[in-house]
Amino acid sequence: MDMPSRIECVEPTEHGADESQRGFFGLIGTRRRKPGTDAAAEMQTREALLLLRNYEESGRGWFWSTDTEGRITYITDAVAQMMGRPAASLIGTPFVELFLPADSHDERQRTLPFLMTRQSKFDDLPLRGAFEGDDRWWAVSGRPQLDANGRFAGYRGSGIDITAQRRSAEDASRLALYDSLTGLANRFNISKKLDSTLAAFSQQQRPCAIMLLDLDRFKQVNDTLGHPAGDALLKQVAERLLKIVGDKEMVSRLGGDEFQIILPDIEDRGELGEMAADIIASLTQPYSVEGSRCIIGASVGVAIAPFDGQSSDDLVRNADLALYAAKGNGRGRFAFYSSDLHQAAEDRRVLEEDLRDALTRGEISIGYQPVVNAGSNVVTGVEALIRWTHRDRGHISPALFVPIAEETNLIWPLGEWVLLKACEDAASWPGEMRVAVNVSPIQFANPELPKVVARALAASGLSPDRLELEITESVFLGDTAETNRMFKALKDLGVRLALDDFGTGYSSLGYLQSAPFDKIKIDQSFVRGATEAGSRNGAIIAAIVALAEALDMETTAEGIESLDQLALVRKLNVSHVQGYIYSKPVPSAEVVRHGEAGSWTIKPSGPARQRNDRFSMFRKVTAIHDNHRYAVVIRNLSATGAFIEGILDVPIGTRFVIDFGEGQLVTATVRRSTKHQQGIEFEQTMVSDGNGGLCTRHRVSPYLIAAAAQPTSALALPTFTTTEDWKAA
Ligand code: C2E
Ligand code: MG
Ligand code: MG
Repeated sequence: MDMPSRIECVEPTEHGADESQRGFFGLIGTRRRKPGTDAAAEMQTREALLLLRNYEESGRGWFWSTDTEGRITYITDAVAQMMGRPAASLIGTPFVELFLPADSHDERQRTLPFLMTRQSKFDDLPLRGAFEGDDRWWAVSGRPQLDANGRFAGYRGSGIDITAQRRSAEDASRLALYDSLTGLANRFNISKKLDSTLAAFSQQQRPCAIMLLDLDRFKQVNDTLGHPAGDALLKQVAERLLKIVGDKEMVSRLGGDEFQIILPDIEDRGELGEMAADIIASLTQPYSVEGSRCIIGASVGVAIAPFDGQSSDDLVRNADLALYAAKGNGRGRFAFYSSDLHQAAEDRRVLEEDLRDALTRGEISIGYQPVVNAGSNVVTGVEALIRWTHRDRGHISPALFVPIAEETNLIWPLGEWVLLKACEDAASWPGEMRVAVNVSPIQFANPELPKVVARALAASGLSPDRLELEITESVFLGDTAETNRMFKALKDLGVRLALDDFGTGYSSLGYLQSAPFDKIKIDQSFVRGATEAGSRNGAIIAAIVALAEALDMETTAEGIESLDQLALVRKLNVSHVQGYIYSKPVPSAEVVRHGEAGSWTIKPSGPARQRNDRFSMFRKVTAIHDNHRYAVVIRNLSATGAFIEGILDVPIGTRFVIDFGEGQLVTATVRRSTKHQQGIEFEQTMVSDGNGGLCTRHRVSPYLIAAAAQPTSALALPTFTTTEDWKAA
C-alpha cells in the first residue's frame, strides 16, 4: 500500500482546533502559498484533493489526525462508519481507544499508547478494531507533526484494512497446528504440547497420561466405501472422542487413523481404564457414512508419566508398545504400558514366525466342544476350535494367534485346513452330529470362500446341512452388496450359518432380519454381565430370543460356566448352551465314542455361582514385612486378593506390603494360612489392565521413591518401612 505514504508526504503545517474542524482536506487547503502562485498550481492542488477524496471513498485507505493529547481531530468518514461510528462522533475521542489493547494480540509489538506518548513515528502497526461488531484488523501508520517552533503538534497518519491478509495468515498458522480434516490438533501441535506439559509437570511432580488410539478395520472402510467415506468416518470419530475427552486442545489426530490424547494429572489406572473402555465402546458403535452403515473397532495404549517415561519420546514410544499389545490381544482392547511389553513384543514376533511352520510341523489340531440342548442336555452338535500346541511353549490360545494369522494372511491356509479336517472328522462320526467351523472376516471377504467350502464338502462327503459356518458381526462392516452375495453363495451350498459372539459391541438387531442365519450365538461376556445386579442384559437376551424364535433361528449361549448362569439362560428360553458347565473341547475320538454309544447326554456340573475372576499364575513378587523382603510366588490372583507361596507359618491377621514391581505396591492382610500357603486380602482393589490381567490402580511415583528411597514410606505405612533391604534389592 503505497498510497497513504505518498499522502503523508504532503507538507505538514500548523495544526489547530479550528483547522481540524475543516477536516484533512481543509488542512491541505490551508497550505500557505507564496503570492503569485499560478493557476496551474491551484489546479494541481484541487486535483490532489479530488484524488484523495476518491481514495478515501474507495475504502482502501483512510486518514487520521490527533491533537497533542492524542485525541482525534480528523478521521475518514468511511472508516469511522466501518467501525460503527460516524466520524463526527469520534472527534475528541482518544485515538488509541479505536483499537484493542495490544496484549490481546502480538505482545512483541510496541503498543500504540506507548508509541504515541513517546511521540514516535510508527509504520503499519497491526491493530484490531475495538468497537463491538468491528473485528477488522488495521495497519496503522502515524507521523508526529511539529509546529513552526518545532513543538509537537499532534499526529497525522493513515490506515489500511488488512483483515483479509490477517485471516489468511491465521488460516495458514491454523493449518500448521490443526488437522484440516477433523479440526483436531495435529501431530506437531500435540507433540509440542506434550513436551511443554511434561517439562512443567516434572518440576511440579504431577502425573500426566497419554493414550494412543488406532482404529481397527479402518482400511477396509476406505477400500470398500472409498476415501470420501473414510474422511467422513474420521470426522465422526473425532466428534465422539471429543465428547468423551472434553478438552479439545488435548485430542489430536496424528495422521491416518491414529489419534493421541493427553490427560494431565491423571495416574489412576482404574479411571484411565474406564475412560479407554468408554472410548472403545463409543467408537465401535455403528456409523452412518454417506448412506452406508459401517462399523469399526479401536485399540488403545496407555502410558503414564512419570512412571512409564518422563520425556515425551519415551512416553509416546511406550504408549505405542502398549497399543501394539492391545491389538495383539485381540483388538478392541486397551493396554497399559509395562516393561514386560518389550519382551511381549519380541515374543509376538517370534510367534508369528513359528506360526508359519506350525501346520507343516503338525502342531495344529482341532478340539470339538459340545453344543447342548438347554432343555434336554442332549448334545446336538460340536464347534471346531483350532488348537496350537507349540513345541516349546505348549498350548497357545487362538485368541492370541488367530489375530496374528489374520494380519499375516496365514488365516487362509489355517482356515482351509480346519474346514477340510473338520468336515473329514464329522463325516467319520456315527450319526448326524453337526459341526460348526469358525470363519474369519478375512476369509469371508474373499470371493474364493464358497469354492473352498464346496471343496471341503466334496472331499469329505459331508452332507452340507451338517456343516455350520460361524461368522462374526464385523462382516457387516464391508460392502453390503458383496456381503449379501457371499451369504447367498454360501446358502446355495446348503450349509448353515451362525452369527457368533453376538453382543460384543456393535450388535444390531436390524441386520438379523435380512441375513440368512440359522443360529445366533450370544457371547459369554453378555451372559456373564446378565447375572450381575442391575444389568439389563437379561432383558436384551430375552428380546434376542424372541426375535430369533420369530425368525426361526436357534440361540446358543456361549461360555456358560456356573449353575446360576445356566439357570438364567434356561429361564430366558435360550435353546442351546455351550460352555465348561457341560464340557470343554474334546478330541474327535471322543465324539466318535459317544456317537457309537447312541445319544450323547451331559449332566451339567460346575460352581453354583460365577466367582470373581481368578487368574491362575506363577508370578514372582516380593512380600515386605517389618524390615524383611520375602520372595514369594503368586499362584492365584483376583482383584481383591491372592494366594501366595514361599513363607512358612504366617499367622492370620499379619499385614504385608506386596510389591508387584514398577511402583505397584498393595497392602494385604493374611486371611487364611496353611503351612506354606497364605490367602491374602488386598486393602486396595486391583483393576483390569485391559488385557485380561490385573494391575494396581495407583503406583508409587518415582518422585516419591527417589525422595524417600523407600517404597513403603511412600505408601505412608510406617509399620512396614524397610531400609537396608530395599536398598539392597
Ligand atoms: P468362539 O468362536 O466364540 O469360541 C468360543 C470360545 O469360548 C472358545 O475359545 C472356547 O474354548 C471358549 N469357551 C467355551 N466355553 C467356555 C466357558 O465355559 N468358559 C470360558 N472361559 N471359555 C469357554 P477358544 O478355543 O480359545 O477360541 C477363541 C476364539 O478363537 C473363538 O471364539 C474364535 O473366534 C477363534 N477361533 C477358534 N478356532 C478358530 C478357527 O478355526 N478359525 C477361526 N477363524 N477362528 C477360530
Ligand atoms: Mg465360534
Ligand atoms: Mg463366540
